[in-house]
Amino acid sequence: MKLVLLGAPGAGKGTQAVFLKDKHGLAHISTGDILRQNIKDGTKLGLEAKKYMDAGQLVPDEVVMNMIKEKLASLPEGQGFMLDGFPRTVKQAEFLETITKLDAVVMFKVSDDDIVKRLMNRAVCRSCGAITTWEHDKCPSCGGELYRRADDNEDTIRSRLKVFHEQTEALIEFYRARKLLLEVDATGMPEEIFERVLSLLNHD
Ligand code: AMP
Repeated sequence: MKLVLLGAPGAGKGTQAVFLKDKHGLAHISTGDILRQNIKDGTKLGLEAKKYMDAGQLVPDEVVMNMIKEKLASLPEGQGFMLDGFPRTVKQAEFLETITKLDAVVMFKVSDDDIVKRLMNRAVCRSCGAITTWEHDKCPSCGGELYRRADDNEDTIRSRLKVFHEQTEALIEFYRARKLLLEVDATGMPEEIFERVLSLLNHD
């Protein structure tokens, strides 16, 4: 299975990707995670990307398109995958069509108000990368230390939402026209949302 997980920042793409990875053995490819790793490693790419990320803006198309091309080429033959956070522009989506053929695009629908609340309450585990909330004082999965992502502050969240509406939302029509779009109500508990995703994928 070759999937794209589409939705605003904080819609739950990363959380659902972990469930799908466990259930279907799909590779989880998150452009945001790859970029953050580059920042951590102090690479040239990381240095370039950081200024856009801190401002809640998109990293230039060419940079992420090259990253995805390399990543997909490195997967073993026949390995299914989920793209989380890519594509984010029509240009990226058009490029993706030239390098792979998708089976489905799952669109996670949540209101802007919910997104702001969720991101303000999002905590990430430094050890295992689990996504959780500040109701916990350490990671519920592994006991690791929690941190807040640099871009999870109210100003940057507003910019990221604006970017989503201006540049990424157009992909809903793009994929609907290609009959690849599956829309899921992404409100409620992660486990409930996962059930909805599975039933959509099974009926597809
Ligand atoms: P995410 O972890 O998916 O929320 O991404 C965090 C940040 O990384 C975004 O706000 C962008 O600055 C950058 N980024 C991630 N994926 C892309 C992409 N496909 N195109 C452009 N920028 C991206």
